Amino acid sequence: CGIVGYVGKQKASVIILEGLKRLEYRGYDSAGLCVVQSGRLQLAKKAGRVEVLAKEATRHRFDATIGIGHTRWATHGGVTDANAHPHLSSDGKFALIHNGVIENYVGIKKFLLEKGYHFQSETDTEVLCNLIAYHYAKEPVASDSPNRFVESVRKSLQHVEGTYGIAVLCVDFPTEIVAARKASPLILGVGTDEYIVASDASALISRTQNVVYLNDGEVVHLTPSTFAITTLDQADVSPVVDQITWSV
Ligand code: GLU
Repeated sequence: CGIVGYVGKQKASVIILEGLKRLEYRGYDSAGLCVVQSGRLQLAKKAGRVEVLAKEATRHRFDATIGIGHTRWATHGGVTDANAHPHLSSDGKFALIHNGVIENYVGIKKFLLEKGYHFQSETDTEVLCNLIAYHYAKEPVASDSPNRFVESVRKSLQHVEGTYGIAVLCVDFPTEIVAARKASPLILGVGTDEYIVASDASALISRTQNVVYLNDGEVVHLTPSTFAITTLDQADVSPVVDQITWSV
């Protein structure tokens, strides 16, 4: 239902929780967040209110400057902590949040189970996370090739039918976020020394009014100091930075 991703110099968990609170009005049943900290993906997610997640997050002492957070409106799988987003890939390398529905998830799940991937939730979303891990493992192991992360996301999305706004973290690229959309909204906020990706402008307006509205089938690759937008077919997109003129 709601997406917030942050990379910059501030404490990501604080900005993400604030963004999730601003998205509450859209309705949701669970909330979660994941940061990259001490070289690991660190996760907190709970069925229930953002307030419950905020309490849980204080126990984790998140101080990372990169992270992703989500409010879920369940479509596939009941309202449980395990079904809340973010989801981790079974190799522990990727964390993913998703709005929308992966329509062909049953077939992809069967394929991945045969390849030895396992699943902790009943969601369509977790399938996409493991599919990215699968493509990543198959990429040529010039492993620090700067595009290995974004390429594995792009390849996975080429096999997906349905709708998505996603944001992804990868432990091997601990300062980067890859996000993409198809028939589900996603906006990039271009701040001062920071980027915020969100499903709704209300989640980022308190930090920046400079935004790029992503189009269907676009993938955005964020680092702390750069962003690049490409299409699913790997064409470069020249971004148009708009100004939001309202405030909250
Ligand atoms: N289909 C996903 C799920 O049920 C995402 C739902 C959403 O958009 O929040 O977990």
